[in-house]
Amino acid sequence: MPSEPSEPTVPSEPAKPTGQLERDAADELDGSSPFDAAHPGPEQPLPPLRIVLFSRTTGFRHTSIEPAQKALASWLDSASYTLRTTEDAGELIKRLPESDVVVFLMTTGDVLDAAQQDAIEHFVRDGGGFVGVHSAADTEYDWPFYGELIVAWFESHPVVQEARVVVQAAGNPVVSFLPKPWQHRDEWYNFRINPRGRAEILLSVDEASYEGGTMGKDHPIAWRREVGRGRALYTALGHPDEAWQESALLQHVEAALRWAGHRVDAAPTLMSDD
Ligand SMILES: [Zn+2]
Repeated sequence: MPSEPSEPTVPSEPAKPTGQLERDAADELDGSSPFDAAHPGPEQPLPPLRIVLFSRTTGFRHTSIEPAQKALASWLDSASYTLRTTEDAGELIKRLPESDVVVFLMTTGDVLDAAQQDAIEHFVRDGGGFVGVHSAADTEYDWPFYGELIVAWFESHPVVQEARVVVQAAGNPVVSFLPKPWQHRDEWYNFRINPRGRAEILLSVDEASYEGGTMGKDHPIAWRREVGRGRALYTALGHPDEAWQESALLQHVEAALRWAGHRVDAAPTLMSDD
């Protein structure tokens, strides 16, 4: 393994400038605030959102993992995001201190050991973001905290087919830009429980629009919740390779990353759907 390039030498912290008060007053005048993450002042661009795409599989392996990695790498503007991909749980954990959001990108099966699970739990509870994509719901069935992140585990699925996605939270910036309705071809997961009431539902699928749904009139396929100081979002979409050529899906995942990374403060409608 090549070693990391050594860190540049950091100069010792300069003495606090005496003009601090004047500078704060000037900040107020231009209307920007360092806490207003959604509207940074022109002189204070936000640092890139640091994303790790983790796609270890110990069960089924989706052929769409690589297309998804490539599509996200080209979709996400490199000035606004840094993207790392790994299949190595040790590498994932090592990256946590320098990451804002971890994405379980079509993971399957048991992918973390007990110490690694603890590290992820601390990461999220302390404010980190978690985004689960598609078979992230077919992952880590025996890890209770993962149940808090993913909310509903996978149960079954029919063949890949087109269906009608319904935007549930139309005023929510995480999904408000999506086509209404959104005709999309994917593998429509049935879940072991209905996550409604445990998470805010963002998208559902209309079971009348395809064959093989078992959840009835209310079939959520994307949702989010807060966990400690962190944020967790799951989307069931992304099975077919070609889905990752759809700008609507890429926008959906990008918005998920931004919300999980605390760059979007969507209206606090959490848990209010039921
Ligand atoms: Zn699948």
